[in-house]
Amino acid sequence: MHLLPKGGTIGQTLTEVHMSDIPKTLVRRTPWPQSASRPVGTPLQPSVVYASDSPDALDAQYDGHASGYTYAREGHPNADVLAQKIDMLEGVSGGIVLGSGMAAVSAVLMGLLGTGDHVLGADQLYGRSLRLMAEDLPRFGVETSLADPTDAAAMRAAIQPNTRMILVELVSNPTLRVADFEAIRALAADVGALLVVDNTFTTPRGFRPFDHGADVVLHSVTKLLAGHSDVTLGYVAARDKTLRDKIYTLAVTMGLTPSPFDCWLAERGLYSFELRYDRAEENAAQLADFLAGQEAVKRVLYPGRADHPDHTRAAALLGARFGNMVSFELHGGRTAANAFTQACPDVAFAPTLGDIGTTLSHPASSSHRALTAEGRAALGISEGFFRVSVGVEPIELLKQEFAKGCIAAL
Ligand SMILES: *Cc1c(COP(=O)(O)O)cnc(C)c1O
Repeated sequence: MHLLPKGGTIGQTLTEVHMSDIPKTLVRRTPWPQSASRPVGTPLQPSVVYASDSPDALDAQYDGHASGYTYAREGHPNADVLAQKIDMLEGVSGGIVLGSGMAAVSAVLMGLLGTGDHVLGADQLYGRSLRLMAEDLPRFGVETSLADPTDAAAMRAAIQPNTRMILVELVSNPTLRVADFEAIRALAADVGALLVVDNTFTTPRGFRPFDHGADVVLHSVTKLLAGHSDVTLGYVAARDKTLRDKIYTLAVTMGLTPSPFDCWLAERGLYSFELRYDRAEENAAQLADFLAGQEAVKRVLYPGRADHPDHTRAAALLGARFGNMVSFELHGGRTAANAFTQACPDVAFAPTLGDIGTTLSHPASSSHRALTAEGRAALGISEGFFRVSVGVEPIELLKQEFAKGCIAAL
């Protein structure tokens, strides 16, 4: 019998080789090599289970006397490392990373509300959040309604005796209207409702909701925070630990767990978040002004421009941080829109936002297609309406590409 064990040579027989060199079974995990030095990059830990020393040790973990992982659905190091980074940005602790932005929205609504409660949402929330409010929560006995968050009186009028929560996005999609946040915060305090902010669009670089009195903040990490359109993740944090634990428990029970690899990628993306955001925002301001000067363009919506309907409020709430999102409307309808995207193929025509590169979306054929034409018209979304998520490309290149689209759309 010829073997090729570690340290042996071809031709040695079993009896000539030291027995300890032979692995007893491939099934046992090989101990991770010890090193006097440490990795610079964050290690990726895909383990689903964690072994404890004894039942006593496990008890200590579950009772909170010892920290440690048990089963990845309940938490794992790559999620925690990522959560701590976003916590730092939002000025909070104990944040939870979940499998998607919608997992975060769902965990908040379903973890904190029950039969008989009412939640008031902003009427231009993310499409799937609207769907959850309109279709799913009512099936579980939660009452929902929507109101215009730029209109404090309309929000107040929609309050009910059982209103437990108000859910808003500071800057709406795709018309980039800015919520009357101070009035909504006062309203929530007045009626004893929790104030929940989906901060995906503004990011903590633009607005930190906890500094302005929010109770819960959530994100689609998929967008600007991860920033490379290669992971789907969410994040949620609550100022109050009891609320945080309710959200966490619901998320673990429903299995809203993030993949360690996605967390690892998103953390890598976050290292450059601030650089990306600043550059994209600078580009957005310039691109908005450039588009406003194009003959094919009927109007431009950018909160940083004086002609934006909520410019004064945006300046007060956001400081000079007006973000990377720009919307514009072509004079022509669908025909002009088709000509535009075909003339600038390097700008990805894709229904997302927050990628490192500039992407263009057309709400009438994507995010807002479920609405009637009248419903879209009420929001100011025509067939010539585009939303741009501005990336970090050289601005001259972006102007060149958008100029091509504008000429084709004439
Ligand atoms: C994309 C998005 C979501 C949902 O996030 P996913 O990661 O796609 O599940 C929620 N809210 C806002 C504002 C978004 O843009």
